[in-house]
Amino acid sequence: MPGHPCCVDHVLGSSLFAEADIYCAPEVVEYLSSGADQIRDDALHHGADAAEIDRAIAVLGPPQQANYQSTYQADVNLGNRTATITHPGRGHTTSDLIVVVPGPDDDDSRLVVFTGDLVEESADPAIDADSDIAAWPATLDRVLAIGGPDALYVPGHGRVVDAGFIRSQRDWLKAFGPCR
Ligand SMILES: [Zn+2]
Repeated sequence: MPGHPCCVDHVLGSSLFAEADIYCAPEVVEYLSSGADQIRDDALHHGADAAEIDRAIAVLGPPQQANYQSTYQADVNLGNRTATITHPGRGHTTSDLIVVVPGPDDDDSRLVVFTGDLVEESADPAIDADSDIAAWPATLDRVLAIGGPDALYVPGHGRVVDAGFIRSQRDWLKAFGPCR
């Protein structure tokens, strides 16, 4: 499978939020522009149902539409708090973004960090052609620096984890790297 800058297992889910602004890294917008055939092949490769893929692709439409924000960094006003989207570095892919959400009234002591597939709880981290094993541990250190020791971390797959879990996944990746 050729490398691609995003997880097709997550990207197609955005078709459920047709009215929403969609923030993604420029590489991802490029990938979505690469055509439905490539996306369809990748999704089939991941075991998705062909009819569901076609439905999602049809709803998703081309990324040129105005609701796509091509960016590595954004602040999103959610009313009583501001979520921050940022690119902590290369890891699972070249263009993973995380979302940092404070508590009500921007209470920084109650952060929730959505890590995407930089962190997986239900299995070992998914390493594929587009992953950067050498850079990944330092990227997780940046995620930890952003979230701090008390944040709740929501991984791409599996249950919510704490900073200790992220540290052990970082150490696992560090140990895995030289063995390749
Ligand atoms: Zn995933």
